[in-house]
Amino acid sequence: MPTSVVTGGAGFLGSHLCDRLLGEGHRVVCVDNLETGSLENIAHIRDDAFMFVNHDVTEPISVDGPVDFVFHLAALASPVDYMRMPLASLKVGSYGTHHALGLAKWKRARFLISSTSEVYGDPQVHPQPETYWGNVNPIGPRGVYDEAKRYAEALTMTYHDQQGVDTAIARIFNTYGPRMRRNDGRASVNFIHQALEGKPLTVYGDGSQTRSLCYVDDLIRGLVMLAMSGEHLPVNLGNPDHEVTMLELAQTVIAVTGSSSDVVFEALPTDDPQIRRPDITRARQVLAWQPEIDLEEGLRRWLVALGREPVRA
Ligand code: UDP
Repeated sequence: MPTSVVTGGAGFLGSHLCDRLLGEGHRVVCVDNLETGSLENIAHIRDDAFMFVNHDVTEPISVDGPVDFVFHLAALASPVDYMRMPLASLKVGSYGTHHALGLAKWKRARFLISSTSEVYGDPQVHPQPETYWGNVNPIGPRGVYDEAKRYAEALTMTYHDQQGVDTAIARIFNTYGPRMRRNDGRASVNFIHQALEGKPLTVYGDGSQTRSLCYVDDLIRGLVMLAMSGEHLPVNLGNPDHEVTMLELAQTVIAVTGSSSDVVFEALPTDDPQIRRPDITRARQVLAWQPEIDLEEGLRRWLVALGREPVRA
């Protein structure tokens, strides 16, 4: 029975990853400080192979017994959260990644970090391949997340090259689905709850900025495939088939929920990327991975998980 440590394991992606690893026969140690994660996300897990540890990864991590995989997902992934806690964001990317890598080195485990499409910043190359170095404002409000992740990638590659740690880097693009926190602040979760509550959907700017949205199950499948591969270079994981403007996303959510809500336009945040779409050639080649769930189907599944009835097209 392989053992996996999942930092951020009570969060949105982390809790889905714990489910999948348990399903594949792993023993899972879920490490989370519950700052943005929640015990609700793991409350359904009734498995002797699962253990929860309330711990902040900015402090050194120690785990008893052998560990085969360290999945380092702990982060303040939503702009609302990292702008509210900028120093915590920098610390979890730096100290937190250092400690998670130290654990992997000590246990001779394979290490996977959840990096981000934010390493590409406001991109001047479209779609974004892994070879693109990005366009990030280091001292802007998003720098506390983007630069933390860029530093975390540099640290990870150094542990690989100089310390012999077996590492993987997943650059995760916008992902959505059940267990996103209601007040997480991201577009998909704001829109779905606003639509269900009959409130106006808050589109920032003129809504022409794009994101490419990947359903959580597709993303988690890719993460596990990357962990099981021998790949060390960064791999984009996201859905290139669903690049939509934020206005289109709002309209799609209204259609799928059957809501009578309108759209209201609000101020565009500073340094908000204008476009974003993954080039997933490497994931296709190295992992034979690609997303399978389209945007409307993913939104329908999310609605069902929320106990609501989607409108059939
Ligand atoms: N956004 C929006 N309305 C919201 C929340 C976000 O129009 O209620 C916009 C935001 O300005 C950005 C896009 O949606 O252009 C995606 O934002 P999100 O926070 O979901 O992800 P990220 O910016 O990290 O890709």
